[in-house]
Amino acid sequence: MKSCHIPVTTLGFVLALAAPRVASGQSAPARGARPDPRAKAIADVVAANHILADRGVVDGYGHVSVRDPTDPSRFLLARSMAPELVTAADVLVHDLDGKAEAPPDTKLYLERFIHAEIYRTHPEVNAIVHCHSPSLIPFGVTGVPLRPLYHMSSFLGGGVPVFDIRAAAGGPTDMLVKTPELGRALAKTLGQHPAALMRGHGAVVVGRDVQQAVFRSVYTELNAQLQAQALALGKKVVYLDQDEAKKSEESNNNTLARPWELWLRRVKEK
Ligand SMILES: [Zn+2]
Repeated sequence: MKSCHIPVTTLGFVLALAAPRVASGQSAPARGARPDPRAKAIADVVAANHILADRGVVDGYGHVSVRDPTDPSRFLLARSMAPELVTAADVLVHDLDGKAEAPPDTKLYLERFIHAEIYRTHPEVNAIVHCHSPSLIPFGVTGVPLRPLYHMSSFLGGGVPVFDIRAAAGGPTDMLVKTPELGRALAKTLGQHPAALMRGHGAVVVGRDVQQAVFRSVYTELNAQLQAQALALGKKVVYLDQDEAKKSEESNNNTLARPWELWLRRVKEK
């Protein structure tokens, strides 16, 4: 079949017809109509961008993607822009080489290789957040390990590795993961963990779905705030132990829709 570039505006127009209805969670497809999983995933990307901006996890920078439910070798990520401004029309289909279906002059995120290489390396991951959320930064540069000190961040019980781009690149860089090689190195550092810190930069957080990735991103940031407060209060901090963390995470994983619905309501009320 002849390959073609779908104009962003045209693609967005088609997607926008379906996306807002699905994103709201208020209306199901008409009886007999086949649900469109890609439109639902695009609506999720838009919602996740807005929620993470509202929660302070991303600002003018940072991005979130969802693996394409119709093709696991592709993922859905906005064009290069501020997360809070993303609409369905801005979400592009990317492949695992970081190429996107868009006109040639479309600006893509320089760090899309974070997403491409994590999806390539970790088939269990279906959503990825890259952020520079401020409370995480000190834990990436001091050697103080980020650890769960309350139940909402129990998913951190297995530890949070730190990616050092200088070691991965073999020398100084502009700190951005903008090549497939650096993306692969970051995916390797991440391993099976839910999150990895990026020294002097930010973090990457993953999930089995978008709700889990967003939940983890919000509570990784909150845990970092609380852990810094606890460490300032006293040297001895009692963290969740391995068994507590495991049991708590299993419990939390059954309720991820609850905060998602609340956070989505908040951004829709704006
Ligand atoms: Zn970044």
